[in-house]
Amino acid sequence: MSAVLVINSGSSSLKYQLIEMTTETVLASGLVERIGEKLASTKHEVSGEAHKRELPVATMTEAFTVMVAAFDEHGPSLAEFPPVVVGHRVVHGGKRFFSATIVNDLVKINIDDLSELAPLHNPANLQGIDAAELAFPGVPQVAVFDTAFHATLPAAAYTYAIDAEIAEKNRVRKYGFHGTSHKFVSEAAAEFLGRPLAELKTIVLHLGNGASACAVDGGISVDTSMGLTPLEGLVMGTRSGDLDPAVLIYLNRKAGLGFAELDTLLNRSSGLLGMTGRGDMRDVVAATDAGDEAAIVGLSVYIHRLKHYVGAYLAGLGGADAIVFTAGVGENSPVVRAGALEGLEFLGIRLDPERNISPERGPRLISAEDSAVAVLVIPTNEELEIARQALAAV
Ligand code: ADP
Repeated sequence: MSAVLVINSGSSSLKYQLIEMTTETVLASGLVERIGEKLASTKHEVSGEAHKRELPVATMTEAFTVMVAAFDEHGPSLAEFPPVVVGHRVVHGGKRFFSATIVNDLVKINIDDLSELAPLHNPANLQGIDAAELAFPGVPQVAVFDTAFHATLPAAAYTYAIDAEIAEKNRVRKYGFHGTSHKFVSEAAAEFLGRPLAELKTIVLHLGNGASACAVDGGISVDTSMGLTPLEGLVMGTRSGDLDPAVLIYLNRKAGLGFAELDTLLNRSSGLLGMTGRGDMRDVVAATDAGDEAAIVGLSVYIHRLKHYVGAYLAGLGGADAIVFTAGVGENSPVVRAGALEGLEFLGIRLDPERNISPERGPRLISAEDSAVAVLVIPTNEELEIARQALAAV
């Protein structure tokens, strides 16, 4: 019996899961939110029961102490299920990390060096690693990178058509994100279809608050919609996705918006929120049903962009065996799924309307029997994928 502790540390939060790996069952999960504020809130879930508290938690190290105390108080006992490895989600692995990596001092220096590419995430991920080393001395720490799955992108897909010297010097290229999810989901799709991964061409649409598309050929990422940062590509909850880069220059000149304001505009007040006043797809769909004009346009932009990437990746892959929807919107929104694939029957993509609206939760087929392309909904599980990779690394 071996347990893996999975850690996702953010700038003010710690999320964790303890997973028993012979059966791949979650023994406990929890989170500490609002670290550094007056009162943090904590939740520890075990055997279907949630234990919540509010208390001051000043640092990530303290958050780990709180987490260990929650295991002591509510179980399961970490003495009974000692983690054999701690797996950390790390957002940016740049060009250096293309697989899960056992953490040592050099790895930490490299993660730190990549902070300039992910200033909100990598420093927080490092704090989680440092705190875990203190809390679990002698237990190997493994970094699992969001970018790693996309290390296989060909130059044609990752190169931006700008001055090569400037790009090289500043490490400007497409890296791609959500790699852990795209890998998990594309492998689960092959398993669901009972076909060898090596033979399968798959388009994965990870549609959560952040959203990205990925073209997977034989288990290998060959194209993806997010770029240097997670801003490029699809329309997201609060992020714009693709736009003419000159919009930034124009808004700077015309409206006097500086870099900080443009950063906030595109990352925090654009996307569904910017267009419709609502960042949550459930609210947007409800508003369209009520005839809200901005919501109708916003949803149509979201779907238009999605279809654009489906078409691009069908062309890039030379057809697809499967199109897979995952994450909050992908798993739960029949309207978005139907919209994204509407009119693609000429490519052999045919949804079954009944299957699409079925309230079923697990992995499922939603295309019609005569659809040449299998359309699937597969719930993502990034924590399990991190645990698997962390265990495999040691
Ligand atoms: P994150 O990227 O934060 O991990 P999730 O994958 O949990 O996000 O997705 C969150 C999003 O899923 C919410 O913002 C919401 O828009 C969407 N969502 C959840 N349930 C539904 C639903 N029933 N219908 C449409 N959208 C939903």
